[in-house]
Amino acid sequence: MKVYRNYIGGQWLESASQSAAPNLNPADTSDVLGTVKLSTREEARRAVESAAEAFRDWRSTPAPTRGRIVARFARLLEDDKENLAALLTREEGKTLAESRGELQRSINVAEFCAGEARRMNGETIQSELPSNFAYTIRQPHGVVACVTPWNFPVAIPVWKIAPALVAGNAVVFKPATVTPATAVRLTELLVEAGVPKGVFNLVLGSGSEAGDEITNHPAVRAVSFTGSNQVGLKLYEACARRGAKVQCEMGGKNPVVVLEDADMNLAVESTVQGAFGSTGQRCTATSRAIVVDRVADNFIERLIARAESLKIGDGSDPSTEVGPVVDSNQFKSVLSYIDAGREDGASLVAGGGVAEGPGLRKGYFIQPTVFVGVTPEMRIAREEIFGPVLSVMRVQDFDEAMRVANDSEYGLSSSIFSNDAARIFRFIDEIETGMTHVNSPTTGGEAHVPFGGIKATGIGEREQGSTALDFYTELKVVYVDYTGRKREGNLY
Ligand code: NDP
Repeated sequence: MKVYRNYIGGQWLESASQSAAPNLNPADTSDVLGTVKLSTREEARRAVESAAEAFRDWRSTPAPTRGRIVARFARLLEDDKENLAALLTREEGKTLAESRGELQRSINVAEFCAGEARRMNGETIQSELPSNFAYTIRQPHGVVACVTPWNFPVAIPVWKIAPALVAGNAVVFKPATVTPATAVRLTELLVEAGVPKGVFNLVLGSGSEAGDEITNHPAVRAVSFTGSNQVGLKLYEACARRGAKVQCEMGGKNPVVVLEDADMNLAVESTVQGAFGSTGQRCTATSRAIVVDRVADNFIERLIARAESLKIGDGSDPSTEVGPVVDSNQFKSVLSYIDAGREDGASLVAGGGVAEGPGLRKGYFIQPTVFVGVTPEMRIAREEIFGPVLSVMRVQDFDEAMRVANDSEYGLSSSIFSNDAARIFRFIDEIETGMTHVNSPTTGGEAHVPFGGIKATGIGEREQGSTALDFYTELKVVYVDYTGRKREGNLY
């Protein structure tokens, strides 16, 4: 049985820990990919120390040279795309088409970040004094921790690690415990790309031990986290206490608003894609459909037909449209939300339970589920489910749709289906989400565009795009006086 190893200080090391967990294929739990050992606090500390030591040389390596290594990593990812996509499907469960999409996004991000290495610019600033000027330079923090979830186990690490390295930081990477195989493969490619010893370190282990040790280590100057609000807010608090920088991308409860003039076919197809794509396990997944009463019956009727037509199965089968949820915890949690929907009085109109049929017995398969008659106070309207469950809410008009859409603690993504320019632009102005889409699903994003949420979803700078390096660099301000004289006046 394959035992996944840590990569610390330029060496592949098996953890000495006695605790371990099996890495299971969620489509068939008799398929065991390997064993992940849950690293000790001591091992996590060693990774941070290795990074701190390697940082000294790495920070003085010219940024374009660092960028060239990341560019090589992008090429290696491209060469390994099919292999990694198959591994991702086997480990996380998403369909092969979705895995290939995640790989392409990762390649695009790495390419973009490699280019940014030649644009790590500051600015020159005119002075109010003669023979003086000021300028700014971007400098790395030192050791940065990247802590990631299981749902995009390739793309999310890449969109943290690539900019962190380009900016000149040394990285300690703590992936989710349920997706160690993809994390190890990414590490192998980074090593092959030429990242120097100690500059990049992989620590496999539980969040509560290894993750806690890394993120609370005084040498870790910045923590980039994607995951749940429960963990993210704890990290935010701990980092704030020691003045470390923190970036948290957390949960979502993303609405689509469907108005009476929408192209109904497009609205239904996009909602199905947003709600059930990646088995609903995307932070940007559509979880609330807010539909004006005049078109609600039509929308619901088509939605039920589409949800029921989706083919559920092992993601490695090319005809599969909806794969399993990732593990037994997610399985239980999603099913308990379906129970909560029933208990709170919503009407179940599609799915609603474990998916059964040939080839589904050994996996964590849940039917694409639609509730109607959902009201804003119900748990399924308020809490993130992170599974294939959609709540449909009827509203009288646009104004009520806006109130309902914004009645959420979260603020990641949203979309509107309409052909009325005035109401589309009002929606863009008033919707309380960090990203919004017009006549397209709540999901999806491009590598060179900033990504992130507001309200309880996001803390700190946006990831990716023109803002990708903001979190990973400090701005140093330099004043230059070439008068050669003591300054008179203006002594503030
Ligand atoms: P978790 O918050 O449970 O875990 C995320 C990561 O944090 C894992 O690596 C986990 O390790 C680690 N961790 C857990 N506890 C600690 C701790 N005390 N100290 C340090 N690290 C810790 O999230 P999930 O993996 O379950 O991911 C699902 C969540 O991610 C959803 O809420 C989803 O919305 C969010 N998400 C948000 C995105 C966004 O951009 N807004 C994008 C994708 C997902 P371990 O695996 O060992 O528990």
